[in-house]
Amino acid sequence: MVLPFTHEPFTDFSKEENVKDFQAALEKVEKELGKDYPLVINGKRIYTEDKLISVNPANKEQVVGTVSKATKEHVDEAMKGALEAFETWKKFSPEARANVLFKAANIARKRKHEISAWLVYDAGKPWDQADGDTAEGIDFLEYYGRQILELAKGKKVNDRAHEHNHYFYQPLGPGVVIPPWNFAFAIVLGTTVAPVVAGNPVLLKPSENTPVIAYKIIELLEEAGLPKGVVQFVPGDPEEIGDYLVDHIETRFINFTGSRNTGVRIYERAAKVHPGQQHLKRVVAEMGGKDTIIVDKDADLDLAAESIVHSAFGFSGQKCSACSRAVVHEDVYDEVLEKTVELTKTLTVGNPAEKNVYMGAVINQKQFDKIKHYIEIGKEEGKLVYGGETDDSKGYFVHPTIFKDVDPKARIMQEEIFGPVVAFTKARNFDELLEIANNTEYGLTGAVISNNREHLERARYEFHVGNLYFNRGCTAAIVGYQPFGGFKMSGTDSKAGGPDYLQHFMEAKVVSERF
Ligand code: GLU
Repeated sequence: MVLPFTHEPFTDFSKEENVKDFQAALEKVEKELGKDYPLVINGKRIYTEDKLISVNPANKEQVVGTVSKATKEHVDEAMKGALEAFETWKKFSPEARANVLFKAANIARKRKHEISAWLVYDAGKPWDQADGDTAEGIDFLEYYGRQILELAKGKKVNDRAHEHNHYFYQPLGPGVVIPPWNFAFAIVLGTTVAPVVAGNPVLLKPSENTPVIAYKIIELLEEAGLPKGVVQFVPGDPEEIGDYLVDHIETRFINFTGSRNTGVRIYERAAKVHPGQQHLKRVVAEMGGKDTIIVDKDADLDLAAESIVHSAFGFSGQKCSACSRAVVHEDVYDEVLEKTVELTKTLTVGNPAEKNVYMGAVINQKQFDKIKHYIEIGKEEGKLVYGGETDDSKGYFVHPTIFKDVDPKARIMQEEIFGPVVAFTKARNFDELLEIANNTEYGLTGAVISNNREHLERARYEFHVGNLYFNRGCTAAIVGYQPFGGFKMSGTDSKAGGPDYLQHFMEAKVVSERF
């Protein structure tokens, strides 16, 4: 019997035995670093000359692994195989497909720390963030397995005299999954297994930053019994195969999570119908955010500071949900700022492969340079009150950084930085707090810290974001509890980890019978 869904608990690192187990997993994975990984097409391992090289962002010299790059020919071969796999996979019962996910969840649960340890090396995640990423991946497996069992029942429509009507869902066909590096287990796995459990084969092109953990996901799904060809592993250069995957006439859908610019590019390209194409492509695009925590006059100010710090600096702000704007009522502005700075002073920065630090390094040189550039812009646009230090001699380290007195229209208040930088701005009343909160092109997450019920109820409808939180931070949505996705230029609001997600990868059919 399938039990009701509950989310995977997080590891308590204040317990010595958990610290020991995690260190043991880090040591085990360290011995496996530097290996070479292939493409996987129709279950076959294919090694190419040209490689992606993944390094530990906190220790650039340390090669996590090398991964073969797919060419356009590989994509064609993978698509052909996916079309063949579709014929058998779509006929598997929903239970059989769900069971592959449940089995994968169990295997992942047993190897939880090992998976997290790969995330520490491949993505530079601090321990608690890696542990959360692994737990969320397990949640996606458990949740989407249950969702397909629900959806397999179809939906109720009316019958009338001498007529029976049947409304049910069927899969679309092969699709392309282009996930991000920042949740290199959870989102890679979730965006892959959702279409898969719905009956669609996929071509998975992982991020160039985290291809090794993506390969581990392929192994996990194979071990859980996923038939060959259902997930085709085609890592590669976005310039070489990115557009090609999207443009392919057999691609039925693209499931993308990443930057605004890439998302828009995919959306536009997917709209073009190529000669021979017999369908319109669907696009699920989860893009950026410029997320705000607003602090009301009547609010718990310690909670406000805690929420800002955790949401702005957890995983160095490398989440599309991260808080990069704190908009605070003028009466409590100085106090919230001071408490935020004090708390930020306690944060540790270092190599998470060596110790349990609060923040590791940012993902790569390009991101490091970009964040550094925004820190310079911030110095012009506001007053630097804390942090600002950067060091890329060993790894890509950026210290937690706070700016104050920034104009709501300033660049660091409008543009996504994807780093540990938060800007404070002041507002005179709740109207203005809300107005500033809504003044970006994004609409992903937000939080309101307030004891005023009337204000909270106004924000419920007027704060225009897909995921709004009251009296807590604006990151860390949980599968099945806070389905995730945003408005405006944050994407198509697909609500990953929610009850409507699988329908994106299915089409509804109605059969009417007269008798
Ligand atoms: N779901 C994550 C959260 O709630 C963010 C996902 C992302 O950054 O893409 O923090």
